[in-house]
Amino acid sequence: GRSVHQIQSGQVIIDLQSVCKELVENSIDAGATSIEVRFKNNGLDAIEVQDNGAGIAPDDYDTIALKHYTSKLATYDDLASLQTFGFRGEALSSLCALSNFHIVTTRATDGPKGTKLEFEQSGKLRGTSVVAAKQGTTVVVETLFHNLPVRRKELEKNAKREYSKVLQLLNAYACISVGVKFSVSNQMSKGRKTVAFSTNANPTTRDNLSNVYGAKTIAALIPLNLAFDMDPSNRPGATQSARNWSAQEDPGSRKITILGHISRPVVGEGRQTPDRQMFFVNSRPCSLPQVAKAFNEVYRSFNITQSPFVFADMKLDTNAYDVNVSPDKRTILLHDQTALLERLKEALFELFEGHAQ
Ligand code: ADP
Ligand code: MG
Repeated sequence: GRSVHQIQSGQVIIDLQSVCKELVENSIDAGATSIEVRFKNNGLDAIEVQDNGAGIAPDDYDTIALKHYTSKLATYDDLASLQTFGFRGEALSSLCALSNFHIVTTRATDGPKGTKLEFEQSGKLRGTSVVAAKQGTTVVVETLFHNLPVRRKELEKNAKREYSKVLQLLNAYACISVGVKFSVSNQMSKGRKTVAFSTNANPTTRDNLSNVYGAKTIAALIPLNLAFDMDPSNRPGATQSARNWSAQEDPGSRKITILGHISRPVVGEGRQTPDRQMFFVNSRPCSLPQVAKAFNEVYRSFNITQSPFVFADMKLDTNAYDVNVSPDKRTILLHDQTALLERLKEALFELFEGHAQ
């Protein structure tokens, strides 16, 4: 039968997307400026994430994949950012329970020599060996869900769809990560290795988007730069009760900035841009269906039938939302969403009006 550990791990790692999200975030946390994601057979055979980050200290080998082990507590002294980024030491432990898993890692001082770490399903270190390696860490996840037959079958059945979903997520990470070189490839069992997409270590998100979607496509986008204050007492016509209410709130938590790139609502122009939308909260990719709906509604009010290309990073105070809604933290709950959407639509309408001829 299944162990409790397996069942709990299944909540953090529910699909290919959660595997990649966890591993890529670990690479970013390790300060990587180069991240290479390699799929084998759409991820069914293997997912490998190689970075050139800080590597893992030998003192940590024993504990790294144990449940609730994290080396990141000391780095983040305030609890708000802890909960935001979801440092809880569950990803590696879950992957040990749900796949054939190993790590190759080095430290800057190790030269061309790396250490291969192999683990028990429980996350206990089984053994280490010396291998050749470049600076950084490579995490290898083979035959995901091999020990959960129903979920494995499901993954096999939906392999292509799962793979294209995971590409979208990696795409979002690649485009938001300024100064990080990304490369994603897929090796089918027979046949060639194909590069899905890649970015250079660019200085701007616009350059990242150009690498992925082509410079010509991106040239048509206008900058998205919206800022508004959600504090009702700062709004013209605010009632006394709104002022009283907002006086109890933390004033720092009510300013919102939205930065990014968007296609203009000009007839014919939409055809040149892919029907693609990426949303972020404080530079973390996340799904925000209500926000997406607001963008689409305003865009369509200019008589454009297509949806806009949107790349939008919402800068919010950590009090303004909750990431602990779903175990994989992909779903975000925005407090005060109704008011936020209203302000967003006003600001978007104004932006588009200036650009719609
Ligand atoms: P968390 O990220 O919440 O700390 P994880 O299970 O994702 O938990 O990772 C456990 C620990 O493994 C991290 O705290 C970090 O010390 C180490 N680690 C994981 N991936 C990497 C990586 N790519 N480079 C360096 N260290 C890593
Ligand atoms: Mg992690």
